[in-house]
Amino acid sequence: MKVFRTVAELRQAVGAERKAGKRIGLVPTMGALHEGHLSLVREGLKRVDLVIGTIFVNPTQFAPHEDFAAYPRMQEEDIRKFESAGAYGVFCPDAKEMYPQGFSSSVHVKGVSEPLEGESRPHFFGGVATVVTKLLMQAQPDVALFGEKDYQQLQVIKRMVIDLDMPIEIVGAPTVRDANGLALSSRNAYLSPEQVVIATTLNKALYWMAEQVAAGGDLATIRQQGLEKIMSAGFDTTDYLEIRDASTLMPVEGRNGPLRILVAARIGTTRLIDNVAA
Ligand code: AMP
Repeated sequence: MKVFRTVAELRQAVGAERKAGKRIGLVPTMGALHEGHLSLVREGLKRVDLVIGTIFVNPTQFAPHEDFAAYPRMQEEDIRKFESAGAYGVFCPDAKEMYPQGFSSSVHVKGVSEPLEGESRPHFFGGVATVVTKLLMQAQPDVALFGEKDYQQLQVIKRMVIDLDMPIEIVGAPTVRDANGLALSSRNAYLSPEQVVIATTLNKALYWMAEQVAAGGDLATIRQQGLEKIMSAGFDTTDYLEIRDASTLMPVEGRNGPLRILVAARIGTTRLIDNVAA
């Protein structure tokens, strides 16, 4: 298993593999790996010859009051997990490698990054777009894989790659859930056993809403009923619960193409996001 700490090491290995005719996939993560992350490696290996995982807890996508310091870090274990999923190597830069002194650039994607997460976490997509751009430029993969778990992020990255003519195929992979339907997330580690029970109701409310949409119900009514289900299950607040156009994430009047139901809700200090197709 190859572990790259610098861009130069990464580039040297990728360059040699590319010269040998290999196609390369990239799976960017912040570590604390679970089956959701590893499914992206496996999905990648169906499409390319070798997959490189990245582990970097990106400081620029956290606001000062958010959980950057507390975010779980377990690099050795993560490297072993990437290896067991069949990754060729792991890129684990430190903050100085990614943001050397004098770093002054950023990437902003208008439109699709503005609603939902963009309203709740105004700093977030700028940080994501910038670090993903860097990772894509550093590794220069043929394909990069992202989870539908972070559905808006996937749409932002797809938009960015088109807009900036990056010659990279962006692949979205389905959300991996536990036996109760709870979307796997590194942040689930923050939940107490009682809170996990509440968290598990979130996906059920979304699937219920999707069924109502499929049955032709009124979107505003379904949204309101979904909100009531979530709050009565024990969530403390919701940042948003919306039924949106599946690619632009803009509001819709009625059903006129694929929709997506997206939610961000909090239990105590833990913020969970989830989404389903409708
Ligand atoms: P993160 O480490 O949380 O930034 O996530 C890294 C990548 O894994 C992103 O593309 C996420 O969308 C994806 N991911 C996280 N959780 C899941 C999940 N439960 N199922 C599928 N992909 C996921």
